[in-house]
Amino acid sequence: MVSRENITREALSDLEAQRAQNLAVEKERRAEASQRSAAVAALLERRKQLFFTGMRSAFASPGQARAISENMQREVEQINAQLRVELEACGLPKDYLQPVSRCPLCRDTGYVGEPIREQCVCLKRAILHKLYQNDGLQGLERENFDTFDENIFPDTPIEGKRNTQRGYIRKIRGICETYADGFSAGEGRGLLLCGTTGLGKTFLMHCIAQRVLERGFSVVVISAYRLTERMRRFQFSGEGEDQVQDMIACDLLCIDDLGSEPMIRGVTVSALYHILNERRNANRALVVTTNCDSDGLYEKYDDRIGARLCDAGRMQILQFVGEDVRRHLKQ
Ligand SMILES: [Zn+2]
Repeated sequence: MVSRENITREALSDLEAQRAQNLAVEKERRAEASQRSAAVAALLERRKQLFFTGMRSAFASPGQARAISENMQREVEQINAQLRVELEACGLPKDYLQPVSRCPLCRDTGYVGEPIREQCVCLKRAILHKLYQNDGLQGLERENFDTFDENIFPDTPIEGKRNTQRGYIRKIRGICETYADGFSAGEGRGLLLCGTTGLGKTFLMHCIAQRVLERGFSVVVISAYRLTERMRRFQFSGEGEDQVQDMIACDLLCIDDLGSEPMIRGVTVSALYHILNERRNANRALVVTTNCDSDGLYEKYDDRIGARLCDAGRMQILQFVGEDVRRHLKQ
């Protein structure tokens, strides 16, 4: 994924382009209104002259600048009132010559607030939107805690269990949301989401990733399959070093469907161990979904990886239960 700093810079330069476009639209509108109505044209010209003479006399006698400016303000308001009348008279909306901006809060500057300047919601949203365009993060705009619907999970008791599938998923969702809301970089606490296909593991992992990303941390979401692919490519050709670095250095790494990747001799296990180990040494967190249970993970990989994934001191294991809701929905 691309760094947040670069993305922010890009979003700010988009806003700059937007402001230039706003000015062009304003100019076009003045020209159009002037063409329609000679009265409008005359008022605009008077307003312009007023600014020039006002500014000139304020420079000439600085002691009276304040009075001059107040006078000017009053006259401009009168002209603007007449403009509104004339605009309507020639069939245009009365606010047609108001300053143009896409965001009414920050007027497309990206910042609000005095004296503490803060990013405007429009800038925050633009940054997130750009982040979501990144590899692996594309699903997050659709799959998040707001769109998570526990009602698709059956509310009938599961044999041998105390709760229904919906009851379990509600509980797990609560744990995931608390985790995401309390996430902090460098704490190294993670989640292992275990269970068979179609129980909502990947969806909830996306929810966590989205929330953590929104809170300003760097997140990489990648399937175990692609992780293996990237590591294999890097190992053999040295390509994709940045991506490998991101997987190691991001605040939160989310690995989807661990156990489904091809077992390539000399690649899969060592690559996975390398990433897990580097992250563990730096106390960086991990969220993993897998169809395997903890015994399965020890069997499939080796003790070193099994121990890192199932380390009770760092990883909370969430066991998903019930039936495949995707199959359930089709029936
Ligand atoms: Zn704004």
